[in-house]
Amino acid sequence: MSVKEIQRIFLNKVAGDLGFGCEHERIGYAKEDHDHKPYCKDCWTRLKMVKAPMYNGKKIVRQGEFWPLQTFLDIYYMKDAKRKNPQGGSNGLETEERNSYLS
Ligand SMILES: [Zn+2]
Repeated sequence: MSVKEIQRIFLNKVAGDLGFGCEHERIGYAKEDHDHKPYCKDCWTRLKMVKAPMYNGKKIVRQGEFWPLQTFLDIYYMKDAKRKNPQGGSNGLETEERNSYLS
């Protein structure tokens, strides 16, 4: 992970908290990486392919579904929430955060 990517993760987290969301609509695939892992071309978030896009030749006929991968910041805040509220399920919080992030 590059310094630039770490900076970007901070930036995306703060921007997200302030209400600047990214829909991750423009998907790119890492060229150097032999798995060609997907990422968002706009905010550089690493993504996980949940549903593959459908192609007709080179034309996309159905968009794929992509979810952002958990970053070290997500893991930190999840642990932090658990520490502050050990009884409350952090799973619910995580889902809620994910939904608000995607919407
Ligand atoms: Zn994005």
